[in-house]
Amino acid sequence: MNLKDRLLERIKGFDVVDAHEHLAPERERVKLEPDVCFLFSHYLTGSLAAAGFTVEGRRLDRAGVREFLLDTSKPVEERFGALEPYIPAVRYTSYAEAMWRTLEEIYGFQDITRDNFMDITEAMRGANTQGIYDRIIRDKCRIRFSLTQAGRTDYERPFMVPVLNFVLLIEFPEGRRTVEERAGKLGMEVHTLDDYMDYCRAQLRKWRDEERVVGMKTVSQPYEEPVSDSDARGLFAKLMSCGRLEEGDYHLLSVYLREKVLAMCGEEDLTVAVHAGVWDDFRRLDPKHNIPLVQKYPEVRFDIYHMGIPYVRDLAIMAGNWHNVYVNWCWTHIVSYYMTQSGIPEYLDFVPVDKITAFGGDYFMYAVEKVYGHLSMAQENVATALAMLVLHGRMTEDEAADVAKMWFWDNPIKIYNLDRLS
Ligand SMILES: [Zn+2]
Repeated sequence: MNLKDRLLERIKGFDVVDAHEHLAPERERVKLEPDVCFLFSHYLTGSLAAAGFTVEGRRLDRAGVREFLLDTSKPVEERFGALEPYIPAVRYTSYAEAMWRTLEEIYGFQDITRDNFMDITEAMRGANTQGIYDRIIRDKCRIRFSLTQAGRTDYERPFMVPVLNFVLLIEFPEGRRTVEERAGKLGMEVHTLDDYMDYCRAQLRKWRDEERVVGMKTVSQPYEEPVSDSDARGLFAKLMSCGRLEEGDYHLLSVYLREKVLAMCGEEDLTVAVHAGVWDDFRRLDPKHNIPLVQKYPEVRFDIYHMGIPYVRDLAIMAGNWHNVYVNWCWTHIVSYYMTQSGIPEYLDFVPVDKITAFGGDYFMYAVEKVYGHLSMAQENVATALAMLVLHGRMTEDEAADVAKMWFWDNPIKIYNLDRLS
C-alpha cells in the first residue's frame, strides 16, 4: 500500500465531528418521497443553473432548479427527462463527485442513466425509513457529532447538535410582534432595547444550557461601524411604537445587534461560525470583512467557513495572524476538491495546527446520503495533502495521522466545547 493509502486507511478509522450541516430532524426526512432527482437537488442545482438548465424554454436560476427537481407533484420521469441532457456538463464537478461516491457506496449504482433511474429511485425510497440518520451518519460515516444549523433544536438523536443563526435574534420579520413572541416564550417582557438585550442573553443561555446549542452562525458582510447606543435605543423605541421600521432602519438595528450578540457569544462561551465565500456575488462574502470584528472582540472564537473560497489564502493569513480566528473546511471539499487539496499544505505553512477543522457536510435533509460522499472526499484530500508533507520530510507518517485526527476530531471538540454535551 502506498503512503497516501496507508494514511487514508488510518483516517477512515477515526471518529468524526461533522462540523456543519443543515439537517432537519430525521422524522421529517422519512416523510419525503425521494427519487433520483433528489441526488442533484443540493448544490448541484448551482452547477446545473450555471450550465443553463432550461425547462420548457424557461432558464432557471439555482433556486428555480431546486424547486423543479424537488417538486414531487411532477412525475420523476418528467423531471429526470429535463435533467438528463445536463448531466454530462456537470458530471466532473466536485458536487457531482460527492454524488457519484454516494450512489455507488450507499445504493450500489455506478452511473445514472435513463435505463436505471427508476431502479435508483426505488432503492432510495426503500432506504428512506426510520434509522436512516443512524445508518448513514453514525454507522457509515462514524460521525459522533453532527453540528446542524436548521433553525431548530428538536432533534431525536444526541449526535445531532444544533447551531443556530444570528437572524433569530437580530432580524424582526414581523416587527414588534416578533419581539413580543420571542420574549413571551421566555416569559419576559420587552419594552426597551435594554430589555431586549436581557432577553438575548437569557435566550442564548437557554439554548446553550437546555437545548445543547454550541454555536451561533452569521455570514460575512462588509464591515459597518454600528450606530451609538443612544441611536440604537431610539431605533428600538421606534420599532416598538410603530410596530415596524423602514428597511434602512432595520439594517442599522441589525448591524448594531449583530455586534452585541457577537460579544455575548464570547461571554457565554458560544462559538461564532461565519459563512465566507462562494455564493453569488461572493465579493460581499469576503472573509476579510471580519478583520475589524476579530480585532475588536478578542474573546470571541470566530470559526470561519469554507476556506473563504476563493479567498483561500486571505483566510489562511487571518487564521495565522489572530488567535481567535479558526478555520472550518465544511462544504469546502465539494465546492472544489482540488482547490481545497492545494490549500491544505498552505494552511499548514501558516496556521497553528490546532485551529483547523477538516469536515462538515453542509447538506440539507433531502441530500443526507451525500454526507458520505463528501466525507470520503475530505478524508482523501487530507490524506493526499499530508502524504506530500511526509514525502517532503516535513513530518513523519505517525505525525501526519495525528494531525488528521486533530482536524477530524480533537479540534472541533475543543473549538465547540463538545465535551460538555456527553
Ligand atoms: Zn451551510
